[in-house]
Amino acid sequence: MVEQGKTQKTVAKEKRRYYRKNVEFFKLLDKIKLWPSRSGTLHGIKSMKISGDTAEIITHCNERFLVRNSRNSRSARWLRNKLFFGVCKGCKIPEWKLEKYSSTYLNQYYGKNL
Ligand SMILES: [Zn+2]
Repeated sequence: MVEQGKTQKTVAKEKRRYYRKNVEFFKLLDKIKLWPSRSGTLHGIKSMKISGDTAEIITHCNERFLVRNSRNSRSARWLRNKLFFGVCKGCKIPEWKLEKYSSTYLNQYYGKNL
């Protein structure tokens, strides 16, 4: 009985930790408002709807992405390493935003874990 209770508690704890991580990643996306697509194009995020561990992102060029989030995912890695091959013309991301992206935000969010 006691052992079982312990196990359940541990599981609940793990889940909570995982969830918080996800929320952080979404918060980061919501803040930088940029999304690298699978092909390496950087899009601007127009709106974002978070439900559980998935987020629906609508870009300025009206593309829709479903993001399953973890900071270890491809997108998180790309954002962290600033890897992208091009900027979406449809999204018209302003220069200052790209500059901001490449400096402040990422250091703020990821500096601790690097
Ligand atoms: Zn776009």
